[in-house]
Amino acid sequence: MANPVLPSSGVLSPLGLDAVRLSPGFWGDRVALNREVTIAHCQEWEEREGWIGNFRGERPRRGREFSDSEIYKLLEAMAWADHPGLPALAEIVAGAQEGDGYLNTRWTGSRYTDLEWGHELYCYGHLIQAGVARLRTHGEDTLTRVAVRAADHVCRRFMEGTQTCGHPVIEMALVELYRATGTERYLEMARRFVERRGLPALADIPFGRAYYQDDQPVRQAQVFRGHVVRALYLASGVVDVAVETGDEELLKAVEAQWERTVARRTHLTGGMGSRHADESFGEDYELPPDRAYNETCASIASVMLSHRLLLATGDVRYADLAERTLYNMLATGVALDGRSFFYANPLQVRVPAVPLDGVNHAPEGGLRSPWFDVACCPNNIARTLASLPAYVATATADGIQIHHPTPAEIRHGELAVKVETGYPWDGAVTVRALTGGRGRIALRVPAWAKGARLTHRGEVREVAPGYAVADGPWRTGDELRLELPMAPRWTFPDRRVDALRGSAAVERGPLVYCAESVADEPPLGDLAARVAPPVEHHVDGVVELEVAASLGGGSEPPGWPYGHEPDGRPSGADAGLRLVPYHRWGNRGPATMRVWLPVGAGE
Ligand SMILES: [Zn+2]
Repeated sequence: MANPVLPSSGVLSPLGLDAVRLSPGFWGDRVALNREVTIAHCQEWEEREGWIGNFRGERPRRGREFSDSEIYKLLEAMAWADHPGLPALAEIVAGAQEGDGYLNTRWTGSRYTDLEWGHELYCYGHLIQAGVARLRTHGEDTLTRVAVRAADHVCRRFMEGTQTCGHPVIEMALVELYRATGTERYLEMARRFVERRGLPALADIPFGRAYYQDDQPVRQAQVFRGHVVRALYLASGVVDVAVETGDEELLKAVEAQWERTVARRTHLTGGMGSRHADESFGEDYELPPDRAYNETCASIASVMLSHRLLLATGDVRYADLAERTLYNMLATGVALDGRSFFYANPLQVRVPAVPLDGVNHAPEGGLRSPWFDVACCPNNIARTLASLPAYVATATADGIQIHHPTPAEIRHGELAVKVETGYPWDGAVTVRALTGGRGRIALRVPAWAKGARLTHRGEVREVAPGYAVADGPWRTGDELRLELPMAPRWTFPDRRVDALRGSAAVERGPLVYCAESVADEPPLGDLAARVAPPVEHHVDGVVELEVAASLGGGSEPPGWPYGHEPDGRPSGADAGLRLVPYHRWGNRGPATMRVWLPVGAGE
């Protein structure tokens, strides 16, 4: 099974790349662009930056202490995409592995002298994930042998003792290698890494141990905290360990942490992370739109975690959050041409970014960059898009579940179906049987889709959010049709989110919308929107929206931005304010942007 996550038990079984083939459409197009453009783009930059040369022994060594991991993420992307460049790159990596399996171009000669910041086990984690991807798509070869030797080295070195890595990911990688090979010591090593955390296992640092989730044991934590990518990679590994060891208490702990984090520490886009200094979650309800950090990698980690929880529990909430995050974070992270990337994803940009030519050293999120000094996000996008079909649908003994409607062919057991849809622009989803067969087909109905309708055998019925199900038997050509209501909706923040008080945003289907202003378009700093049904404009296959808003009349601000009466609406006459899907912003050059629109007094 060509699948990045393959638990041995759970309510739902994943369907891999061999069972789900995407056709041209929102995701199919992006997956194809990733294979044809983004993977080569990443490899070119890694060669140019010298990070691949590090494995050839070129000196001085170049790049940050974790740059090896970028080559491993790229190898994982190549494995899922069956990219012809993989064998040659794997040979280069193999050439740097030491006799006992140790492999790191930065720390060779001073092994494991800085577990807090050294990222050695983190790098192995990505190497092992690449190896598992290759094992499941191709079978044993150089890359898989390098990964297994590294994993065996880790087990020999770390099975006893109290040490772990400052940056999680080794946990879920080892569990997946256990699933792929059946070798139990990999699972035991992962379990020990999970249980050691918070005892504590690492030194205290200026950010505090919460930065790397070493402030308390995983079982006792109430919420995700600290560095977001670390927190969510760790939680993904914890779910994997819990599922494989049958540890219900551990699984419940992560579910509770997810629930509280989603309720209090997640942006409308699904983005997570409010603080730039340590790339961390903020406190509950600390969700400023302009200072949102929302690293692209954090959103990928969130999808990885939600997917694992979905498989374990079958709870539709996890698929709902994954959808929000895929459409509004993953799709935002990469430009429409596949060659530049966002690192941070704020919900408001006040000043247009200055275009740059080359590496972005301060990835604040105003303009996509072709590369970064810390290039985790481009490579993470590449491996996630390459494996995206594996997130679309799952199976149970009695049928299939389609969680993310997108044009595709899905095969499982007796069932073979074709999914046709213009989603997310259009709410109609048709599932047509390609062969006869028995089995139940379930289509996810997102929480926002109140009043969705399902047509089956000429019968139309309303279906509530959750799953719309229809039972076979199916004859070739039989159709199931789901219609999701796609009227734009105004969305208001909880009153406790102080930074958003007095604002509202517009969503349509799974998409969050934003106002964007480039060049001589009206500025967005002083406006108040009217909460009235937005007007739809269909532009080149994309749905844009228009709302009425009064814009500041260009009046000079007072000398002091505080007064003794509540401030009113700006004085300008109402005009049409164009909104575009958030994932498309920043593709027309430097711009200002805002998701949350002030709605002013009396709205
Ligand atoms: Zn990143």
